[in-house]
Amino acid sequence: MPKYDYDLFTIGGGSGGVRACRVAAGHGARVAVAEDRYLGGTCVNVGCIPKKLLVYAAHFGEDFEDAAAFGWKVGAAKFDWQRLIANKNREIERLNGVYERLLMDSGVDIIADRAHLSDAHTVVVNGKRHTARYILVATGAWPVVPPIPGAELAITSNQAFFLESLPGRVIIVGGGYVAVEFAGIFNGMGAEVTQLYRGPLFLRGFDDDVRAVLAEEMRKKGVKVLFDADVARIERRGAELRAELRDGTELVADAVMYATGRKPTTAGLGLEEAGVKLAEDGAVLVDAWSRTSVENIFAVGDVTNRINLTPVALAEGRAVADTMFGDEPKKPDHTGVPSAVFSQPSIGKVGLTEAQARERHGAIGVYLSTFTPLKHTLTGRDEKTFVKLIVDQASDRVVGIHMVGPGAGEIIQGFAVAMKAGATKAQFDATIGIHPTAAEEFVSLREKAPEPAAEAAE
Ligand code: NDP
Repeated sequence: MPKYDYDLFTIGGGSGGVRACRVAAGHGARVAVAEDRYLGGTCVNVGCIPKKLLVYAAHFGEDFEDAAAFGWKVGAAKFDWQRLIANKNREIERLNGVYERLLMDSGVDIIADRAHLSDAHTVVVNGKRHTARYILVATGAWPVVPPIPGAELAITSNQAFFLESLPGRVIIVGGGYVAVEFAGIFNGMGAEVTQLYRGPLFLRGFDDDVRAVLAEEMRKKGVKVLFDADVARIERRGAELRAELRDGTELVADAVMYATGRKPTTAGLGLEEAGVKLAEDGAVLVDAWSRTSVENIFAVGDVTNRINLTPVALAEGRAVADTMFGDEPKKPDHTGVPSAVFSQPSIGKVGLTEAQARERHGAIGVYLSTFTPLKHTLTGRDEKTFVKLIVDQASDRVVGIHMVGPGAGEIIQGFAVAMKAGATKAQFDATIGIHPTAAEEFVSLREKAPEPAAEAAE
């Protein structure tokens, strides 16, 4: 008779939790997962996947316009939000089913209810106690709206995916991934979009040139991007919402969407009672192996607030399962993680920003280029693509790669492999470009940008 009901009990059936369950089951472990909302978590239901579908939808507006320059005569385009959302919902339901089948085929027990710990080896779900040798917390994070008067009138990305109709005027508050992505989505679909960010330039943490280029391109596309601006209160006035900014300006809209970050979902899970230490923001504190302060309890994904990206959660989930049931403990590798922002135009990046590289390496070489993509030589659309390479002078290694332009995520994925492999600028230069592409620009950058000091002295 085994000592515990399960070898692994996972709380949360999102990307990280499901991956850990399946890998653990593959190692022969007896596994259960409790999920009270939807299988697939944020990414599948209210994140990456539906977001990307909405981004595709938003791009068609410009595509129809651009088509004329290529000889296509297209009638007046009309956008149907309800149809898009119904199609999107159908695809998400299909994915929920895929996740369920994958778990079942791996022999994982799925418990569709809320779970909490009663001690370090016991999970309680709907009054029933399940004991487990290992427990994995993979409960993700949830959007937060700051407590301003009228906050309850605002929506977050969770509701944006299910709106009954496309709002004609939208205010988006925040300057992170979600905010710029939804500004592009609503703008592309024809809504009037105002994005407010509390600081001088959005996308804090991204390369400064990338931030400035995106702000300019978004403005050219018609998004009203306001910096050093924040909402003080929101009021309903008939069918409209009125947002009063801190400087007294009044904005009127049909929807106010907050994209001001996400909070790890740890409340009410009994974690601290079981001895699991949390950070100030509620995130579960873990070591390099994703082990918490309790020896048999691990945590992966957004609930740990390390790098909050699905592929990172997948890597953490796999490593945890290998650590628990494989031949040797495995640490997830958090270095050189590429990412994309599906703004319009999109951003792709890997490695250090220019500022980080200067601080870490001292002498660096910066190579950049801004150009009109070939497609727009015919359309006349005023949209630029921007690429930037940052090179550590001493080793000649490329330590940062950044792009703003169509397909940036697709392009940077490949270059991330080169960077991970330690590619030097000389090796980039020795690589033949693929013509005509935007990506070839990365292997054609020969002229170093002037040093900021030299530039200032001119
Ligand atoms: P982020 O943490 O990226 O951005 C939050 C934004 O809201 C920041 O601009 C922040 O400003 C601002 N903000 C925070 N608090 C307040 C406040 N009280 N009042 C006004 N503004 C505020 O969060 P997101 O929700 O955009 O995304 C969460 C995470 O999800 C991302 O960090 C990313 O890891 C992941 N994600 C990834 C995507 C992708 O890979 N394409 C897409 C979407 C999400 P400040 O910078 O000044 O603190």
